[in-house]
Amino acid sequence: MLNFTLTPEQLELQRIAREFAHNEILPVAWHYDERDETPLFILERAFEAGIMGGTIPTHYGGRGQGLIEGVIITEEIAAACPGLSTSIFVNSLGTEPLILSKNETLKEKYLSKIAREFKLISFATSEPGMGSDVSGMHLKAKKDGHDYILNGTKYWITNAGLADYISVFATVEPESEHAGICAFLVEKDWEGVSVGRRIPKLGQRCSNTAGINFKDVRVPEGNMIAPPGEGFVLAMKTFSHTRPAIGAFAVGAARSAMEFAIEYAKKRRAFGTQIANFEAIQFKIAEMYQKVETSRLLVWKAAWEFDNGLDPTVSASMAKFYATETALEVGNEALQIFGGYGYTKMFPVEKLLRDIRLFTIYEGTSEIQRMIVSGHAMSTYQPVMPPMEDLPMARKTDLQMPKEKKGITAWRCRMCGYIHYGDEPPENCPYCFFPESAFKRVWPKG
Ligand SMILES: Cc1cc2nc3c(=O)[nH]c(=O)nc-3n(C[C@H](O)[C@H](O)[C@H](O)COP(=O)(O)OP(=O)(O)OC[C@H]3O[C@@H](n4cnc5c(N)ncnc54)[C@H](O)[C@@H]3O)c2cc1C
Repeated sequence: MLNFTLTPEQLELQRIAREFAHNEILPVAWHYDERDETPLFILERAFEAGIMGGTIPTHYGGRGQGLIEGVIITEEIAAACPGLSTSIFVNSLGTEPLILSKNETLKEKYLSKIAREFKLISFATSEPGMGSDVSGMHLKAKKDGHDYILNGTKYWITNAGLADYISVFATVEPESEHAGICAFLVEKDWEGVSVGRRIPKLGQRCSNTAGINFKDVRVPEGNMIAPPGEGFVLAMKTFSHTRPAIGAFAVGAARSAMEFAIEYAKKRRAFGTQIANFEAIQFKIAEMYQKVETSRLLVWKAAWEFDNGLDPTVSASMAKFYATETALEVGNEALQIFGGYGYTKMFPVEKLLRDIRLFTIYEGTSEIQRMIVSGHAMSTYQPVMPPMEDLPMARKTDLQMPKEKKGITAWRCRMCGYIHYGDEPPENCPYCFFPESAFKRVWPKG
């Protein structure tokens, strides 16, 4: 059964998130963007308001929310500030490897804490020398008795400067690529962990991004989230659970850009009328609206698949690259509708456009999402149509004839598609000159 109606509980969550976005985030977002600073108090309020960490299972004291609920909330927060939503929701990315881990003692210890107290957790796969190629990481984990010693650097880590914990991916042997990757829960105040300077960025300047260096960091074996050989799959599974949320970021941000553009188009006058009366503007708005709606549908589908126990990998990738790329188009067109004012810092669309730009890069670039989707389309996807060489070429009378009376035999050249009628195939194809062996009997069938 298909049903796009939100339940009363989901509507209530949407209302709470919307109210939080309007009352807490919108008033301060532009100020902190200008200052390139993360307002930690907003993150704390988001935790208190139940906006953060909703996916932690109830067993550990969390709310056990589904991904549908997650994307509904995320859209609202991102509509107010994509940068702050990155910093708020990176806790879900950081906790997801723990939720998926088989290490029950570790889960009890940390998930319960993150669910009950205001604790920030970062997620670290990327390094200065690699991002897309997760199997190519170099941060080294060396076994030493019952501990592992970590050495290396992670880069681009959201909330690195603010986090209490880090879900860090490492390798026991860089040469063994996927097979060497493992993951650990590291507390940021452990000896040997140091955070680099905040990285200056084009957009999402309300979000803290920095590198983290690990120098002889001793991690007890009990803090292993995934043993060597299981870390790579864990990272990929984490992404397929969190990518719909990046799609939801994009839907929220694009929705705001569109709303601001509509409002402006109704007020701004040119050539004696409102610019909203020009068909060129109306068509832009139609396309913006279409892109926001279609993106949301893909995001919801991916989230629904996850909540219903299906593998959401392909839908999550599709939702991510479709929603983030259309958001960029919507943001760009919104700025165009504002004309010169759109290019200034006095109106909100330039910040939205700068913030949106990141969506096609982190948590797997658009190129990587296309690799995932094309890999599925060309290998695991089951086509509905028969192979082209089996396509029947029959007349209505042929179809009505009993099998034994089907007088006509049709042969298809597998190279150029030519159909030859006759008891035998021709010696050579009259079009492409391929020999008789290139012909397949396509009629009668069987
Ligand atoms: C603000 C910000 C926050 C981030 N937060 C985090 C975080 O919290 N944790 C974390 O671990 N990482 C984080 N990242 C890192 C992010 O995930 C990576 O930047 C991203 O995965 C791309 O990796 P890269 O920058 O190394 O680019 P590269 O992998 O070097 O890619 C460069 C270009 O080549 C393309 N490319 C690479 N391989 C292929 C291929 N096989 N086929 C076609 N094209 C290819 C890419 O699509 C891209 O266009 C963050 C990044 C930013 C900018």
